[in-house]
Amino acid sequence: MIRDVINSLIDYASFHLDLKGLDKIYALNLIIGELNLDYPSEGKIFSEEEIEKMEVPDYFIKEITDFLIKERGFAEKDAELKAILVMGLVTPSPENVVEKFERIKEISSADALDYLYKLGIRNYYFQKTMVDKNIVWKTNYPSKNIEVSINLSKPEKSNKDIAKLLEKPKTSEVKYPKCLLCKENIGFFGTYSHPARENIRFIPVILDGEVWYLQYSPYGYYYKHCICFSSKHSNMVINESTFKKLVDFVDAFPSFFIGSNADLPIVGGSILNHEHFQGGEHILPVMEASVKKEYKLKNYKNAKLFKLDWYNTTLLIKGSDRKEVISLASKILEAWRTYSDLDNDIVAMDDSGNHNTITPSIRKIGDEYNMYLILRNNRCDEKYPEGIFHAHPEYHHIKKEGIGIIEAMGLFILPARLVRQENEIKHVLLNNLNDKEILEKYADLADFLPMISELKEKYNPKTIDNDINKYIENVCMHILDNTAVFKDTKKGNEGLDNFIEGLKL
Ligand SMILES: [Zn+2]
Repeated sequence: MIRDVINSLIDYASFHLDLKGLDKIYALNLIIGELNLDYPSEGKIFSEEEIEKMEVPDYFIKEITDFLIKERGFAEKDAELKAILVMGLVTPSPENVVEKFERIKEISSADALDYLYKLGIRNYYFQKTMVDKNIVWKTNYPSKNIEVSINLSKPEKSNKDIAKLLEKPKTSEVKYPKCLLCKENIGFFGTYSHPARENIRFIPVILDGEVWYLQYSPYGYYYKHCICFSSKHSNMVINESTFKKLVDFVDAFPSFFIGSNADLPIVGGSILNHEHFQGGEHILPVMEASVKKEYKLKNYKNAKLFKLDWYNTTLLIKGSDRKEVISLASKILEAWRTYSDLDNDIVAMDDSGNHNTITPSIRKIGDEYNMYLILRNNRCDEKYPEGIFHAHPEYHHIKKEGIGIIEAMGLFILPARLVRQENEIKHVLLNNLNDKEILEKYADLADFLPMISELKEKYNPKTIDNDINKYIENVCMHILDNTAVFKDTKKGNEGLDNFIEGLKL
């Protein structure tokens, strides 16, 4: 049976992954060796038509892992690692993928991006079936809409998984690859704590004269969520070169937006030690925000500067002259780094270091660059030990991780645990449990008691799902307000105007 499965996998790879000629025999033999099978079979599981219709290789992954667990005594995780290796063996080599990508790009960069995306789905690098399970919705208000995604594709680790991690002895003191974004991940065999990457493929791109690589995110927070990372394992940084790189990227791939997380903790992403960008073919909510004000510029012929009607402090630079866009962004960044405004609680630097930075992103509409600059500050004080301009503690039950670029631009990625907790809350409301009963039954709902009492007031079993969603949306919007360095108040608006007008742009 497994031999027939492998035969059909070769057919699948031949149709969907460009596996050709001698490479088919070569891959078949490598797989037989990996699975300890001695010889192949003549049989097949699927007809040609069935193979052609397959959009994802989930069937093969399941059969191979089941075989390894049942017939070869593999632990589940080891079987999963081996299945990725098998998918790597039927995928074109990294340089073959680069060659084909470049060939397609000569005609259409969007088609080239699409080729790499589909390759990742078909070789199980991007696990589409899992990602499609994420719960995603967009709010429906007259303006300033946001998107919410409860992310089920990155499951919470159970205590059992964590214990397993501890059991596995460390084979080496050397951390290799240094991080999840190093180019040395390509072909990596994977461990219990580092994903197998035999099936990852990425493409070199030159940004401001440096070699970077473009790959898709395995988590797919939105359509064609890509990551562009430096060939060097070096810390995140936001400077003039960052703006040049972002502009270079959208010049090469105008169908995608691209942006960078800030270079400081709390307001940055989860990986600060490897310089990288995130982009994709998606319109993030901030890009639909309307303009609140235009600042007059004296020294720029083409570029324009706007303040957006958005929760946090977002400036928009528009212009078709790339030098002007880069110069304007650099001047704002340089001034912001050292700008303090005590009336608005903004302190650029103190004993604990520098606090001001920017979350930049860009997209191209026709010939016009649209560069978004979100002003950020990561200072903490006694009242807000986790960040003054970070999600405040009353919202941590929904989200307490750093508010990185994706959230700051209006797409909230929330943890999978919320699905379970929502069900628990519904049970609590249906049975009208009091606080003591709630905590006895569901200890981790402790932080949800204010939310439960709010929902209790207007409880209706028919609308409860919608009411919970509305509550979550509302929290997300408040979190974005928390991250605004200049609040939408008289004092905040004047503060931003003073900052911009003082630059004499
Ligand atoms: Zn790295």
